Amino acid sequence: MTKYIFVAGGVMSGVGKGVAVSSIGRILKSKGFKVSAIKIDPYINVDAGTMNPVEHGEVFVTKDGTECDQDLGNYERFLDDDLTTENYMTTGRVYEAVIRRERNLEYGGRCVEVVPHIPDEVISRIKNLAKKTKADFILIEIGGTVGEYQNLLFLEAARMMRLKEPKDVIFILVSYLPVPRMIGEMKTKPTQHAVRNLNSSGIQPDIIIARSEVPLDLPRKRKISIFCNVQEEDVISAPDIESIYEIPLNFEKDNLGKIILKKFGLRSKKKNLNDWRRLVKVIKTAKKKVQIGIVGKYFETGDFTLADSYISVIEAVKHASWFHKVVPELTWLSSEVYEQHPAKLRELRNFAGIIVPGGFGSRGVEGKIKAIEYCRKNKIPYLGLCFGLQLAVVEFARNVCKMKDAHTTEIVKHCKYPVIDVMPEQKALLQEKRYGATMRLGEYPCLIKKGTQAYLSYLKSKWGKQNKKGDIFIQERHRHRYELNNEFRKDLEAKGLVMSGVNPDRDLVEIIELPRHPFFIASQFHPEFKSRPLNPHPLFREFIRTAISVRH
Ligand code: GLN
Repeated sequence: MTKYIFVAGGVMSGVGKGVAVSSIGRILKSKGFKVSAIKIDPYINVDAGTMNPVEHGEVFVTKDGTECDQDLGNYERFLDDDLTTENYMTTGRVYEAVIRRERNLEYGGRCVEVVPHIPDEVISRIKNLAKKTKADFILIEIGGTVGEYQNLLFLEAARMMRLKEPKDVIFILVSYLPVPRMIGEMKTKPTQHAVRNLNSSGIQPDIIIARSEVPLDLPRKRKISIFCNVQEEDVISAPDIESIYEIPLNFEKDNLGKIILKKFGLRSKKKNLNDWRRLVKVIKTAKKKVQIGIVGKYFETGDFTLADSYISVIEAVKHASWFHKVVPELTWLSSEVYEQHPAKLRELRNFAGIIVPGGFGSRGVEGKIKAIEYCRKNKIPYLGLCFGLQLAVVEFARNVCKMKDAHTTEIVKHCKYPVIDVMPEQKALLQEKRYGATMRLGEYPCLIKKGTQAYLSYLKSKWGKQNKKGDIFIQERHRHRYELNNEFRKDLEAKGLVMSGVNPDRDLVEIIELPRHPFFIASQFHPEFKSRPLNPHPLFREFIRTAISVRH
């Protein structure tokens, strides 16, 4: 029988609920259980694909092509598992399904009401995931904070589930305990209010995870216990720490795994967190630094948003760096500056490697192209991700193949050399203004040519399957509308651009590289989505390997 753990947030948002859920998942997995997780986002959007990354953070893409919240990325990284569309729920998705069913007369002529039909749909989606994954535990993260209107129906669904299956459902509240500077003391009152708020939805938390700047002391633990009606041992101290990957170990200091199992009357099936411990040891002890520059445009609203927009790229760089026992130092470089002040390009020399990540639209594009040219000519290790491939092709066409004005038709619709062009099926979608979930999304195959640098990267990391000819067959995740235009493939190849990976079904270029360069590889797919802390992505791994070993 699957057990269900609902996780809600109290006091305020942004305290790390997603990472808490991921960490609980990792702990339970380390005790020998099969775990899956659902993120519930209370907004109306059917998925995260149409949202601006500056406002919402990165749009993560699952292998089956769902554009979702970045928390699913954390779940995948901590659980080391590929998730699918069933792991994601929004108010929009739930209502869409109920309305569709009503239109199909599936409610047998009854009046379809918000309660119980909406919570019923929520519950059936949770159950559906349990059935599909056969997981021992399903973790359900209820987005938002208790006390707001938007997530009430999800809390109602949680309450109904507990009522029906009291032995199979528990609730965890991730709360925040401020330490106001003028008082200098940790305050529990906001958490008490959050619990009362939750109580008014008919829910009593079984466990409280107490997020704060500092660890919880005993008097505070006691206070929360008495005022919030939970056992003292069920209050888990969760102070700020440097690396999110340390959180499972921190939770385990307060025996969170054991406490959860006890609540369900279960026992650990042995296993342990040793591999995770080894990782955290490297994170905490590695000294040597590697300087990586990320050239892009979503950078103008401060550090917080910045890191959120590219979280999977950042994490993939970290995983790869830790593999080589170095610490990455990331610098955000605004490409627009290079358009106005080309002399500034010289700063790229200060970095061991440069990344141009995914992106959309015209702002800063010429600056990115200039940065790529600088990396190519000065042999600075370069990794291009999606837009980073497309612009590398534009740069090569313009400056090596002498196709002046070469461009991607995303930026200049009618250019002389459209070396990157919209895919035919995408053209129709754009004309009809059908933007939601219509990009080329999710996993597609790619065949990597034997002997190329990309090939060696995958081979070394033991990723993908080899065919009889020795080529490597991989699956990677996509999110784009434009492609390398095959009309120009021969011209580009003639001048030395190597197409090292190609989609075998549609003959679409997936990876390009430059020989006689220490590392110049770009992919049409997003390798960052598949990188895991204990299994870094081959392209990032080899990029960092070159960055730390080559001088330019
Ligand atoms: N804007 C480009 C496209 O749609 C690249 C997308 C991306 O980088 N994810 O093809």
